[in-house]
Parts: sequence; C-alpha cells; structure tokens
Amino acid sequence: MKVCLFNTMSRKIEEFKPISRDVVGMYGCGPTVYNYAHIGNLRTYIFEDILKRMLTHAGYKVRHVMNITDVGHLTGDGDDGEDKLEKSARESGKSVWDIAKFYTDAFFRDYDSLNIIRPDVICPATQHIPQMIALIKRLEEGGHTYVAGGNVYFSIDTFPDYGKLARLKLDELQSGARIDVDSNKRNPKDFVLWFTKSKFGEQAMMWDSPWGRGYPGWHIECSAMSMHYLGEQFDIHCGGIDAIPVHHTNEIAQSEAATGKKWVNYWMHGEFLLTEKGKMSKSSGEFLTLQVLRDRGFDPLDYRYFCLGAHYRTQLQFSFEGLTGARNARLNLAERVSSLGEFKPVELSPAAKAYTDDFDGFVCDDLSMSRALSVLWGLLKDGSIPDSEKLSAVRYMDEVLGLELDKVKSVADSGSGLSAELSDLLEKRAKAKAEKDWATADMIRNKIDALGFFVKDTPDGPVVVKK
Ligand code: AMP
Ligand code: ZN
Repeated sequence: MKVCLFNTMSRKIEEFKPISRDVVGMYGCGPTVYNYAHIGNLRTYIFEDILKRMLTHAGYKVRHVMNITDVGHLTGDGDDGEDKLEKSARESGKSVWDIAKFYTDAFFRDYDSLNIIRPDVICPATQHIPQMIALIKRLEEGGHTYVAGGNVYFSIDTFPDYGKLARLKLDELQSGARIDVDSNKRNPKDFVLWFTKSKFGEQAMMWDSPWGRGYPGWHIECSAMSMHYLGEQFDIHCGGIDAIPVHHTNEIAQSEAATGKKWVNYWMHGEFLLTEKGKMSKSSGEFLTLQVLRDRGFDPLDYRYFCLGAHYRTQLQFSFEGLTGARNARLNLAERVSSLGEFKPVELSPAAKAYTDDFDGFVCDDLSMSRALSVLWGLLKDGSIPDSEKLSAVRYMDEVLGLELDKVKSVADSGSGLSAELSDLLEKRAKAKAEKDWATADMIRNKIDALGFFVKDTPDGPVVVKK
C-alpha cells in the first residue's frame, strides 16, 4: 500500500519511504508525569496510535519508542522556572519518585482504556542518564557547548541549520529575546543540556557528571533515548504541535550537531484540542481528564471516536454535546455490527473489497480518518453486501480504528442502541452526581428505570443494562 504523510519539515504531503524495509523507527515524545494527562494530551497519543496502526496495516513492522519525562522539564520552555516534578512533589508533600510512579501509572490506565497500543519501548528519562551524558560529551568535543553559571549550554550559533523545522528566521533568533532571559546565555535561544545550579536549592533527582552533580535538560532526553533505541537516523518523530518551535527544534540541533547527519526523515505533529478559552493546557489549571468523562457516563472509546472525526492536523473544539454525538454514533455503529451475526472468516467479493480499498486509500492518505469512517458507515448501510462479508470487512478496518467493534457484545450488554433520550438522562445523572445533587440523580435513575433499563455504577463508570 502506498502511504503518504504530511511532513512538518517540508510542509508537504510526501510518499513514505522507510530507511529499511525491515522495520520502521518511530519516536513519540511521552508525557511529563507531574500531573494527570488531559484529554488534549490524549488526543496526541490517539493520533500516534492511529499512525502506528496504519503503518502496521500497510505491511510495515513498526518499532515504537516513547519516553517518560520524569526529570528536567521546567515550567518554562526557555530553561526558566522550576522542574515540574520537583514542584508537584513539593506542593503535595510526596517524593518526586512517588509522583513520577503515580502519574505514570495513571497515564497508562488512560492509554489502555483508549485502546492505544503500548509502545515497544517505554523509556523513563531517569533510567538513561549515562546516554545523555555521553551525548553531551560528544557535543562538547564537537565545540557545540559552553559552561556558564555552572550549567552546560548548547550554542545554537554552532549549528547553522538551527530553527529549520519551525522555519525560525535569523533575526527572530537574535532579537526575539524574551524579557526574562537567562543572563548566562550567549544567544537567547541557547538551551541547557545539563543543570548543576538550580535556583530552587537542592533537587531530589541529581546525578554525577563531568560537569558536576546535577540533572539533564528536557530536550537532551529525547535525543539521547531515541538514538539509543532507534539508531542515529530513523524514520518518524511525532508529538504535539507545541513542540515544534522549541523542543523539537532543540532536539534536531543537538542530534544533528552530534552526528553530523540528518536525524529524522518525517516529522509529524498533532494539532491542539481546544476548550472555549483556547488550548487545553495543564499549566492553566483548567483541564479535563479522561476520568471526568468517565464520571459523566462516557466510555473512553467515545472520546477515541470523537477524535477520529477530525483530521489530526486540524484543531478540535471539545464539547460535551460533540462527545455525546460521538457516543451515539459509536453505539449505533456497534449495534449495527452486533446485528451481523457470528464472525466467520470469508473471502470478500469485489463489491465488499471496493469498500476496504477505499478505506485503505483514506487512512494511508495522511490519516484521513473521518473519510475512512464514512466508508465504514457506507459499508454497513449497503444492503447488497452479505452480513458475513460486512463483518470481515469491519474487523479489517477496526485494526486501524481501534474501536473494538468486534467486542460489540459487551457494548450490547451495556445498552447498545441507547436512545438519545437515554443518553441524555445518563449525562444529566452523571452531572447531578458530580454536583452531589443526589435527589436529582435518584429522580433520573427512576426515569431510566421506567424506560426499561437499570444503571450499574462500576469503577469504569456507569453501565446501562436492559432489564
Ligand atoms: P506533556 O505531558 O505536557 O509533555 O504533553 C504531552 C503531549 O501532549 C505533547 O506531545 C504535547 O505536545 C501534547 N499536547 C499538549 N497540549 C495539547 C492539546 N491541548 N491538544 C493536543 N495535544 C496537546
Ligand atoms: Zn521529545
């Protein structure tokens, strides 16, 4: 299958040509584990999951590596502020190691419940300090670093291609200095590779290094770990769009300055999930977690379906109305699939094959998932295709969609084909419960009861069962 991807580096859709036919190397920047992931972060991980599934579906073997940032990510991207984990530990009275473990576990609970396939390698930064030190030494030997005020800096003036991903202009690099610039920096865009001096006193996480006891900068983590697991050149690097101007720009500078070679062939970035007030972000303190959606009666897969409805390169406005629409559509889909009978592998007739071909064409065309979903709907509504073939085609498509459509039985048991009225009541009940308005919650439960269903509260949220 021909695969085309939008490459942020060229700003063009390009035909995907892997470095090796044997395995595609793919690296995605992982979470900074100082707080829960919000559903905006999770949108990015769903996009990366679809990318990996599509490549696998197209016949490639993918080696997917993701880091866990458990040290070095400061509250400001320009090396200002405090380490996010240290701050979270101080505020909660827990150790940084406990914070990292707690939020890493919480992250993977969300990851799994969204049916995102786990990466082949999950690498916490704190377990790869020797690789980072080795890379900084290599940069030092190449004349790309300087030490000032106790920290080791990368000098961007030693790397002429600096800013090529973000298309930063030279004058922006010189004069775009922010007001609160670290006075140790020769160029305002220089960045820290290794900190030994912290204005916040002793950090809990520190390691010995040739430059003194300290801790790594955030950007060096991804360069060192991706090259350690995928080699000095690999195929795809992805993340959220906010990583382009600083994080990925600095990753490229370090990696290519160290090796003297082009580092990554395809750069892919997922756009933001927006709230009414703009980008959903952890630092603003106002964000939605997957648990909030569960508490309001949604299945995590409703959110997955919601994300599939928009192209990964477009901004997506979150709303509970939109999510309710996604839930109704997913349950309707599941209801149709469950009515197709028992699965038996069958050969597809040319008419059914035309649907799977169209589906493949859309997913391989830079992940046009909403169009791929309409092909699935078209197939299910087509009266001329036998049910057994439809079911085989649905299974094939679900390898990419990851909506667990072949596990429809559980959806049916939990009230597939929920009417709009029932969905609405469920959401109102969850809202009442969240507001501790027990009287309203009970009243709504009675209404649901009168419709012939009862609600079972489970750790994964309420489940509606037909009586
Ligand atoms: P973090 O845990 O903050 O390091 O972010 C994890 C991932 O989520 C990164 O790839 C970010 O670029 C991405 N991200 C952050 N905010 C959003 C958002 N509102 N919508 C989509 N992706 C986001
Ligand atoms: Zn990264």
